[in-house]
Amino acid sequence: MTAQKMEKALFGTNGVRGVVGEDMTPALSLKIGMALGSEVRGTVAVGRDTRTSGESLGAALKAGLMACGCDVLDVGILPTPALQFLVRGRCKGGAMITASHNPPQYNGVKVIAEDGTEMGDEDTVRIEQRILHDRYTHVTWQQVGTEMRSPALVEEYIRGILQQFPADMARDLIVAVDPGSGAGAHTTPAILSRLGCRALTINATLDGTFPGRLPEPSPEGLKDLAALVTAAKAAFGAAHDGDADRTVFIDDQGRYVEENKEFALIAQSLCRERKGILVMPVSTSTLVEEIARSCGCEVEYTPVGSIYVARRMIELQAQGAKVVMGGEGNGGLIYPRHQFCRDGAMTAATMAWILVATGKPLSTLIDQLPQYTMIKEKISTPYSHAVLKNLDAVFAEERLDRTDGLKIIRDHAWALVRASGTEPLIRIMVESNRREIAEDLCREVREAVETALRSAEKSQSS
Ligand code: MG
Repeated sequence: MTAQKMEKALFGTNGVRGVVGEDMTPALSLKIGMALGSEVRGTVAVGRDTRTSGESLGAALKAGLMACGCDVLDVGILPTPALQFLVRGRCKGGAMITASHNPPQYNGVKVIAEDGTEMGDEDTVRIEQRILHDRYTHVTWQQVGTEMRSPALVEEYIRGILQQFPADMARDLIVAVDPGSGAGAHTTPAILSRLGCRALTINATLDGTFPGRLPEPSPEGLKDLAALVTAAKAAFGAAHDGDADRTVFIDDQGRYVEENKEFALIAQSLCRERKGILVMPVSTSTLVEEIARSCGCEVEYTPVGSIYVARRMIELQAQGAKVVMGGEGNGGLIYPRHQFCRDGAMTAATMAWILVATGKPLSTLIDQLPQYTMIKEKISTPYSHAVLKNLDAVFAEERLDRTDGLKIIRDHAWALVRASGTEPLIRIMVESNRREIAEDLCREVREAVETALRSAEKSQSS
């Protein structure tokens, strides 16, 4: 059984997020620290990305943890997956001050469980309840926690990734890295260099004003990286979001690689090596499933959100199943041999390894993949849940999947309609291996959503 999503008040799909000085303040950060400190007993690792508000929010969070009896291990600026790697086996939990891909004015907190995965819904709801009802366990003066600073620990994470690959495997492969002035700037270029690559960098200074590009690695934002790749004749360009759990690629011709194709290519390579199950959200392109099955592997779908993917992978492995990899079609990929969370540096290193192993240019490997058309739309409404209920009846006769929202599955196409986890809107995704089928289905679903929306609005106003 796949974990069902639980409703959360403060925490979204990946932690608490907000605009600094408005909804994300040191006062809230202190409460998160106190709530986490009241739940956890022992040492909690705290890390942050490069955002200008990171130190201030971090100081408040750490104060809350210590006031409730936790010792704090401050590991400084590092990628979220590095913090997750350091928590496992060392700490009772972790907190990462980051707003991931959001613009510079945002910040937030991702809470990490003892096993290094993002905290699951049940524990998150417990922390939320403490915050909403101001219920904290403050300790006496003899039990107040202490802080230790160990920014050099990130080296363990770097070595953890190097261990996954043959030493010096990528001798003289030219690669370009754009960490976007984010947390990956001091890790990914170092990892690729130590694997033998000639790693060129752009936007590789830690800078929370993000002077080169926004933290979201979008095709528009990566034009400079694409220019560097073609000018330097690099094998690929790799770019991270703000906390470097995701990686997207520019191929050797300077083209942006769509993230489902990235997932499919890496899946193809791992599935050829070993057989087992791939885990991904229902929003992932069928391309990944097609590739996995053609290599003799199986796929399992989860609700949207990397935490559901990671937890399902852990469950399957505990049941004795072989889990090859997991991931989302947004450049966030999970490698169970390394750890059960999305890891951007691991993805960049895996791509280097694929290019060395195949001896083919990335553009050729991407062009060999089957073609799918995916269309994404969104419709603003505060009545997402009512709309989804109304829609259910419209498509009742069809093959439906309700893992997350409503997925309508047809022979050569599917459509997914779901309520956004973070904003008052409905997201529509449609995919087919034929463009005209995708366009027709998208029109049909959009019209059905609009009709359902009108009747939801009517019943709200009556
Ligand atoms: Mg991220």
